[in-house]
Amino acid sequence: MTLRMSTLFLRTLREDPVDAGLPSHRLLVRAGYIRRAAPGIYSWLPLGYQVLRNVEAIVRDEMEAMGAQEVHFPALLPREPYEASNRWTDYGDGIFRLKDRKGADYLLGPTHEEMFTLLVKDLYSSYKDFPLSLYQIQTKYRDEARPRAGLLRGREFVMKDSYSFDVSDEAFLISYDAHREAYIKMFDRLGLSYVIVAAMSGAMGGSASEEFLATAENGEDTYVRCTRCDYAANVEAVRVPAPEPLSWEGVPEAHAEPTPATPTIESLVDHLNDKFPRAGRPWTAADTLKNVIVTLVHPDGTRAPLAVGVPGDRDVDLKRLQAQVEPAQVEAFHEADFDAFPALVKGYIGPGALGEKGTSGIRYLLDPRVVPGTRWVTGANLDGSHVIDLVAERDFVADGFIEAADVRAGDECPRCGQALETARGIEMGHIFQLGRRFAEALDLRVLDEHGKLVTVTMGSYGVGVSRAVAAIVENAHDDLGIIWPREVSPADVHLVATGRDAEIYSSAERLSTELESAGVRVLYDDRDKVSPGVKFTDAELIGVPTIIVVGKGLSDGVVEVRDRSTGERENVAVDAVVAHVVRAVERA
Ligand code: ATP
Ligand code: MG
Repeated sequence: MTLRMSTLFLRTLREDPVDAGLPSHRLLVRAGYIRRAAPGIYSWLPLGYQVLRNVEAIVRDEMEAMGAQEVHFPALLPREPYEASNRWTDYGDGIFRLKDRKGADYLLGPTHEEMFTLLVKDLYSSYKDFPLSLYQIQTKYRDEARPRAGLLRGREFVMKDSYSFDVSDEAFLISYDAHREAYIKMFDRLGLSYVIVAAMSGAMGGSASEEFLATAENGEDTYVRCTRCDYAANVEAVRVPAPEPLSWEGVPEAHAEPTPATPTIESLVDHLNDKFPRAGRPWTAADTLKNVIVTLVHPDGTRAPLAVGVPGDRDVDLKRLQAQVEPAQVEAFHEADFDAFPALVKGYIGPGALGEKGTSGIRYLLDPRVVPGTRWVTGANLDGSHVIDLVAERDFVADGFIEAADVRAGDECPRCGQALETARGIEMGHIFQLGRRFAEALDLRVLDEHGKLVTVTMGSYGVGVSRAVAAIVENAHDDLGIIWPREVSPADVHLVATGRDAEIYSSAERLSTELESAGVRVLYDDRDKVSPGVKFTDAELIGVPTIIVVGKGLSDGVVEVRDRSTGERENVAVDAVVAHVVRAVERA
């Protein structure tokens, strides 16, 4: 099929849209692929919809190849199944809820574990029916707090979600691996550069999970990779290796000291080196224990403060903290909140005020590095005063540990101890070992070969289909526009006729017919009142991988073939160009 620019529903834009920061967002709008309808909600124009369907086709192909069967659920769902799994509450403000005319509660599906579980329960009852993998490609709805960057984080978006059902854990692992393999093939075909990392399970529950992250400096996710072994993890999932506890024999008693005007770690360290110099080595931020207070807002609306103690040379990473406390949401602890806890002295908060036994009673969790015997300088809960030689376990205990301190390049690999490196990525896919959480909540049990009822083991597997369109552009663009990998491109060839000569247009016309019969998808710029400059700019912006220019060279029997990705240009004889392009298409 040939798309003709003269009639194609398309307006390219010279200017970047004001609300768009990231290249994928700017370019997809400017090149006429998508239009914003509302925050985080986009309409697909003809070229964009073609790309979306190409991505879907690859995803569908690989799901079918691994033996999953396609179904399609409604997006408008009743409350009850989500009530049974507790997610009606756990999702909090994250889902769109609505009522029908009788006042019954509904939601727009954010993901469909419950519905798939119930469908299988409805129809299957014996181990003989398993293994089973089902999937759908569907529009999902999430009222994201921060819709961002166009398609990357939408409030309406397209997801492929699949679910595996098995009667034993061993069988489940086979289904999980099959999905993992299918994802590798899928993301290779999508032309993405990506990494597979250990991930948190979040609101899904379940035991283990992995993410496929498209490597991208604009990605929202940070991951670490070991410089020696094959450890790789989303920073949310990094488990800091806890050091061995230390003996506190001979450590002096804790002593509070005046440290006026030292509300920051930097001012404190300067003051310590000035007034309490230490033999051997100067004080550093790593000697201090920083206590950060946040508010947790639970799904039922209740609010509770949480104190997190981290070595003073590290910050609390809010994304890491958020991942640990889900489904609660982390909010800042405000001035008014301080008023409610007079035991807290801002800038000088110490363990004495924190924890079950502390004067404020605020729940207190420590970084895993704060093991028994470690020795700290920290707030004395008095304005302008800190405690020195405060020893964990000897002088204070907390209510537990939490992984919330930032993870940095150079930190120890939890597996082999070598240095980690960090990079950013866009989460493209997530594969979860759900275990029996949903099957138990919704009572999906079947008879095993001994006639005994067993709970089914499930996996859940997502791919961000609309997000992939944007992630591909993040991976493949230049200053001029998009550079599509061939399989997702809206066409194989962008055929540009330049000039006013009728001969040129009739040759281009003929060429487009020949290309089409050879199975090449053509986008033909047949506009006769548009300048060559504008046509070239549009072609570069739109990003079809091969551009053929039919123009002046025609009198010498040649057309120009341009490679959008490398910028290479070559003259090819008109009679040879179809075969030339077919070869390029087949190579991809
Ligand atoms: P994120 O951490 O980016 O919010 P998630 O953990 O909520 O993702 P899942 O619930 O696992 O994501 O959803 C499966 C896939 O759907 C994700 O891997 C991602 O590719 C895609 N996805 C999730 N939320 C969005 C969104 N708001 N817009 C576009 N795609 C999304
Ligand atoms: Mg999310």
